[in-house]
Amino acid sequence: MPETIDTFITHAHLFTMQGDGVGYVPDGAVAVQKGRIAAVGPTPELADRFQPTETIDASGCAVLPGLIDAHMHTPWAVVRGVAQDVSNWMQRALAPYTRHITPAAALAGTQLNVLEALKAGTTTLVDFTKPYPGWAEVFERMGVRARLTPTINAMPPGGMAGWKVGDLYPFDPAVGQQAIDAALAFARDWHGAAAGRITVMLGPQAPDMLPRDQLLQVKRLAASEGLMIHMHVAQGDREIDQMLQRFGQRTPQYLDELGYLDEQLLTVHLTEATDEEAALIAQSGARMALCSGSIGIIDGIVPPARAFREAGGLVALGSDQASGNNCNNIFNEMKLTALFNKIKARDPVVMPAWEVLRMATIEGAQAIGLGSEIGSLENGKQADLILVDLNAPNLSPVLDAPIRNIVPNLVYAASGYEVKTVMVAGRILVRDGQVLTADETAVRAEAQSQAEAAAQRVAADPVHKDMALLAAMQAGQL
Ligand SMILES: [Zn+2]
Repeated sequence: MPETIDTFITHAHLFTMQGDGVGYVPDGAVAVQKGRIAAVGPTPELADRFQPTETIDASGCAVLPGLIDAHMHTPWAVVRGVAQDVSNWMQRALAPYTRHITPAAALAGTQLNVLEALKAGTTTLVDFTKPYPGWAEVFERMGVRARLTPTINAMPPGGMAGWKVGDLYPFDPAVGQQAIDAALAFARDWHGAAAGRITVMLGPQAPDMLPRDQLLQVKRLAASEGLMIHMHVAQGDREIDQMLQRFGQRTPQYLDELGYLDEQLLTVHLTEATDEEAALIAQSGARMALCSGSIGIIDGIVPPARAFREAGGLVALGSDQASGNNCNNIFNEMKLTALFNKIKARDPVVMPAWEVLRMATIEGAQAIGLGSEIGSLENGKQADLILVDLNAPNLSPVLDAPIRNIVPNLVYAASGYEVKTVMVAGRILVRDGQVLTADETAVRAEAQSQAEAAAQRVAADPVHKDMALLAAMQAGQL
């Protein structure tokens, strides 16, 4: 008597990501029941066992776990492409915009960013932003998995616009406390929401943006509430300068002495960390989110992810923000991560395709603390998976045996838009490239109108005249 299941995906080039490699199964099948994976194996072996409500023939497709984006700032999609090719990125390029992004503009950005990521096969989004009304509801409504991180800092309103490079920035502990309280309230509302699909992390923005006692307060709260901490660490020379001026230590040593380095911590960037500092952090059990595209564009640096992994650390990939990356696409991050690290090491063997694919799936899942639920296709795990159409010209021809070319092509040739079908928790969110959980035209139209209005507000602000972008426009470069 065959077992009744919801969905049966058959005849795939199946990459389970089980074991130490990519876990390839030729002519593979995945059985999905009640949002979880009921079986994985060769199609001929599983076909007689199940009676599915829906069968998806995945012939000509690669099927793999949904991709994980471990660090994003989704509202910034509304100002995509306005902040790159400059020095002092945060002050000269991003800060003029920060005060002009209204909650409605932020919402439009998040919707656009989730749409973009979903269409390119990202199923888990780790987002970091100052909360605004409707933020979490976007993820709930669009059906993706999310780890939401409300920003905590003690910076007075107005952000960093007007602050001079080299000066210590001011702290307002009342602002810090308010952000901590708001983050805790948010966590109590949303951690575990949507049947566990939405979870929350605590997000001190960076060690240089909060007084020591408030940073420690967040650590205690994370422990008592059972939450992970998601924090930018050593994210630029600006941060290291602030740390030395204010605390007399570089960030890794400061965090080490504070007792901050452990498995509860997801560190983002490590741009300015030395290989030795990266190893110190990795050996503590803390994890790393590597944003190759963003840090390449913003800083011209390849972060020490290789040293971090060689010291035993777990690394996930993140796309950061669209104001200066300029896309949120994990296929792009896989390729850039492999290339940048080979170039940095002057060694083509470094970070091969299968390793970066693991960083986007199983290793990424472990790094963000969801390794037992997602990141590989195996019995009992969440049915978060994608079908990639290998008939696309840039992924053809497809070789399986005796020579196999699929993983290198997924990493070095795919754009992300070959993703045909996306499933999260057993629910199909994208079918034949069409997003089923949002009105794509309406999402783009809303982002367009919010972006135009924000540009008008920025232009009316005196800080506009100092913007790098304006100088480039006047010079005929944009
Ligand atoms: Zn960030």
